[in-house]
Amino acid sequence: MSRAEVVVDLDALRHNVSLLVARAPGADAMAVVKADGYGHGAVRVARAALSAGVTWLGSCSLNEALVLRDAGITAPILSWLDTPDADMDAAVEAGIDVGVSSVEELDRLSGARVHLKVDTGLARNGCPPGRWADLVRAAAESDNEVYAVWSHLACADVPGHPSVDAQAQRFEHAYKTALDAGLTPRRHLANSAATLSRPDLHFDMVRLGIAMYGLNPLPTKEDLIPVMTFRASVAMVKRVAAGESVSYGQTWTAPRDTTLALVTAGYADGVPRLLSNRVDVLLGGVRRPVRGRVCMDQIVVDCGDDEVSPGDEVVLFGPGTRGEPTATEWADTIGTIDYEIVTGMYRPRVARRYVGG
Ligand SMILES: *Cc1c(COP(=O)(O)O)cnc(C)c1O
Repeated sequence: MSRAEVVVDLDALRHNVSLLVARAPGADAMAVVKADGYGHGAVRVARAALSAGVTWLGSCSLNEALVLRDAGITAPILSWLDTPDADMDAAVEAGIDVGVSSVEELDRLSGARVHLKVDTGLARNGCPPGRWADLVRAAAESDNEVYAVWSHLACADVPGHPSVDAQAQRFEHAYKTALDAGLTPRRHLANSAATLSRPDLHFDMVRLGIAMYGLNPLPTKEDLIPVMTFRASVAMVKRVAAGESVSYGQTWTAPRDTTLALVTAGYADGVPRLLSNRVDVLLGGVRRPVRGRVCMDQIVVDCGDDEVSPGDEVVLFGPGTRGEPTATEWADTIGTIDYEIVTGMYRPRVARRYVGG
């Protein structure tokens, strides 16, 4: 039994992908597997997603894209954020499509297939509208193939947010500029949230991220299954007397005699220290509170008068079907998003195991 491990349910992933692909009929679907597949393992996720209906993969950097190619994956891959010193010849050689946000980036490419990215209101990467006509013209005159025009939404996870329509309008305008320059690009704009909520913005391809991993970016109800379960084990059990305090800083004191289970996961394994005294785990089929501070390697769980034993399984988060907390519950508790929780599980100390698929 491993100290702390992430279990990735590839059947759940395939279920989510099928659902999302069905929501965007007529559009291609890209599985975004950046950050090692949001902490789930890029290669395994990519293979499972391709088997469930996506035809494209998306990665942040060229290195991430090359990991997929090196694993023998031949599907089209788009990579969109590298530093100026990245080896773009390697991208072309490996048949990786490149997201391009400026003339400078375009100038580093020859014989590449590019997706021209326009900044429609996120002000992150993407070409500012004032430079767009120049970029489109330069691309049309270059020896690169312009496959698509694309952009990214800032507030698609807030239904009805006015910025979504504003960005869609700028996107339309940028597309027309590309047509005027003689290009005939495809278009893609939608992330998970827009895939679920804005069918009018699906265009030629949707880019599936968080929802594919079973976490819903929208407040609406969807039949998504969280793919990741985080589990650890009980290393030791002890009885403490009323009045004894637990862990660094002694922030919790037992109000009565109780049984404590020492669990083999701490902040070095992905349990945020901010969850100290604020979260439960599932142990022996029951939700039980974490007491005291989360330590680097361990947490302490209050089991009352129940019988627990070293070696017992502890579920820290999962799909929630057995009553365990979800990654979303963790995120809500500490004021972040579940993206950060699951992506934060990408760490060498935590084993990763795959089931299903
Ligand atoms: C991460 C990312 C996505 C996926 O976003 P989700 O909100 O996880 O669906 C799509 N497009 C781009 C450009 C991204 O960086």
